[in-house]
Amino acid sequence: MPEPKQVKRLPRRRRTRTPDAELMRRAQELSDTYLGGLAVPASVSWVSNQRSRWGSCTPGDRTIRLSERLKRMPDWVVDYVLMHELAHMLEPRHDEKFWAWVGHYPKTEMAKGYLLGWSDAAGVSGAAGITG
Ligand SMILES: [Zn+2]
Repeated sequence: MPEPKQVKRLPRRRRTRTPDAELMRRAQELSDTYLGGLAVPASVSWVSNQRSRWGSCTPGDRTIRLSERLKRMPDWVVDYVLMHELAHMLEPRHDEKFWAWVGHYPKTEMAKGYLLGWSDAAGVSGAAGITG
C-alpha cells in the first residue's frame, strides 16, 4: 500500500535543539563549570565542511566550529568536543596542561571512546575521532 502523499513531502528530519545560539550557551556553561570561566568564545557554530575533524578552534579570534556530524550524537559527546575546543583557548597544544583542563569534564574518556568507535564503525580513516 503506497504511503500517503503528505508523508513523502515531510521535510528532512532535523533536530532543532542545538542551533548556534544554543551551542554558544552550552560553551559558556561548560567554560564556567569546568574551566573557571577562562575560555570565552566569540562564536560557536556548526559547519558541514569538516570531514576529518569533529571540531576546530581558532584561538586568535576565539571562534569554535563543530562538525554537523555531531548533531546525531549524544549531548555529552558534543559537550566533550566543545570542552576540547574551549581548552584550546587556554592551551594550544595537546600537552599535559591541555588534557588536565579537558579532564575536568567527567565524561572525557567515555566521549573519546565513543568518537573513536563511531569512526571505526563508519570506516572513516585518517584523523577521524581526533578533534583539532
Ligand atoms: Zn585538539
